[in-house]
Amino acid sequence: MLRLFLGLMLVMYGGAATAQQLGPPQSVTKAAPAKPKAKPKAKKTRAKSPVARELFGAATEPAPLAARSIGGYAKGCLAGGVALPINGPDWQVMRLLRNRNWGNPRLIDYLERLASDAHALDGWPGLLIGDLSQVRGGPMLQGHTSHQVGLDADIWLTPMPDRILTPEAREDMTAVSMLGDPFSVDPEIFTLLHVKLIKRAASYPQVARIFVHPAIKKALCQQASKVGKDKGWLGKVRPWWNHHYHFHVRLSCPPGAEGCQNQKPVTGNLGCGRDLTDWNAMLKKAAIEMAKPGAKSWKGKPPLTMAQLPKECGTVLTAGGFEPPLPTEDETAEKPAAVLAALQTKDAGPPVPVLTQAQLRALTGKGGPMPLPDRNPMR
Ligand SMILES: [Zn+2]
Repeated sequence: MLRLFLGLMLVMYGGAATAQQLGPPQSVTKAAPAKPKAKPKAKKTRAKSPVARELFGAATEPAPLAARSIGGYAKGCLAGGVALPINGPDWQVMRLLRNRNWGNPRLIDYLERLASDAHALDGWPGLLIGDLSQVRGGPMLQGHTSHQVGLDADIWLTPMPDRILTPEAREDMTAVSMLGDPFSVDPEIFTLLHVKLIKRAASYPQVARIFVHPAIKKALCQQASKVGKDKGWLGKVRPWWNHHYHFHVRLSCPPGAEGCQNQKPVTGNLGCGRDLTDWNAMLKKAAIEMAKPGAKSWKGKPPLTMAQLPKECGTVLTAGGFEPPLPTEDETAEKPAAVLAALQTKDAGPPVPVLTQAQLRALTGKGGPMPLPDRNPMR
């Protein structure tokens, strides 16, 4: 009965999609009292679509359907997810409590191959694997805007230790930042072995993009010639915020996969010229903002609702009889165990280094604060 009710609700939400998307964005914080005159009534009568991350975060088993990535990297879900085994000959999965080692079989195959090749061919000791996707993909409660369709994976830049880590160690261990300061890598930490690993990771045709911190991209541009003549792989490696202790691999959709949305393929631009200069300017401004007393943290977009996801994600969510928690506005309501477990885990790595006050004084002097750029790595 409950299931029927939920099914009906999800269908309703799906139907309300267009209206919802055109309406005012749902705010995470309390809505401001002042509203445009014409609209307030319409909102009350319309069924409010539930926030998707609460529902997808509660699932503990994959949707028993054929494996499919549905929608886009930052707006989709995963049917028939496959788990990357937590231990392999050349990899170990970290933060097991999050239960995010799920992906499209294309991603699982890729990771197993990369782990083995990087070990055998480049001497990388083994991969520590961070988040892939949730069991049914979808938006997450914390940490990522993408990783929704089982084609994204975070890989630590910390080599795998020469032992099987205990479950506790996989929760406690923290990845090491490659940065010496907000703008450059520490050459003692970021080595040629890292360059080889990222080059290897980018070398497979199914890889669409790899995201690394702009300082890492700069180091790769500078050192690429030390690891071979070919530099084409650099074009797939894109700078993005926060990827300073891990890199993020994004695979293209499996060929012919219906409803799976690729990004525009990368062009031949290696991204070692103008792009890096632009990023350096953005990094500088962001670092100055962050070093100021009382710096505000980034405010993300409002969380995605079920109505904003592809319609089929409603089916993926409830497949096999899974009953997602009833949507509630009540912040204090008890959360499902899977949600609590994921929320309790600690960040995989440290925050980016902050400027010292002396560095801040040296850098400021001209120019005011700038608007902070969008955080979703869709470039
Ligand atoms: Zn990632």
